[in-house]
Amino acid sequence: MRRAIFPGSFDPIHYGHIDIVTRGSALFDELVIAVYDRPAKKLLFSLEERLHLVQQTVNHIPNTRVVAYNGLTVDFCEKMDARFILRGLRVFSDFEYEFRMALANQRLSPEIDTISLITREQHTFLSSSTVREVASLNGNVSTMVPAVVQTALQQRYAELANDSN
Ligand code: ADP
Repeated sequence: MRRAIFPGSFDPIHYGHIDIVTRGSALFDELVIAVYDRPAKKLLFSLEERLHLVQQTVNHIPNTRVVAYNGLTVDFCEKMDARFILRGLRVFSDFEYEFRMALANQRLSPEIDTISLITREQHTFLSSSTVREVASLNGNVSTMVPAVVQTALQQRYAELANDSN
């Protein structure tokens, strides 16, 4: 079975991620969307919230599964019996980071290959941090994220505004 994992923070999931999941799921027998527990960046949503949003958003896409993970991505691949890591590429600056990660992972586990898909043109600018920034300023993110994510963002920023009053 050709199984791949698509690792990320998904804080929150957006249409750029969903496009990679849709196209990636057609390439493999199973695509495991791996939500990283504690990335080295400040998170807006907890692991449970991120998992729930990813699940609600990709449940219509065949051959997919959503799992939380921590530790090294290659160790998680081995645990899941996955031979491929799927990543998305937006801009040249992504390429340098992804290139370094892929080489580091190759050094750690030469049998695991990284497959990168180029983003669709309309998602080039899209990142979780852009989505968070627009939503935090009450901007319209309906073209960037599905409705469930939009609602979760509105609720979270309303909670944060209440907390600071
Ligand atoms: P990380 O925490 O590793 O940066 P993200 O949750 O931001 O992870 O993204 C997970 C994966 O999705 C990465 O490979 C990233 O390059 C890819 N990705 C993020 N945004 C887009 C986009 N707009 N188009 C295509 N791929 C994207």
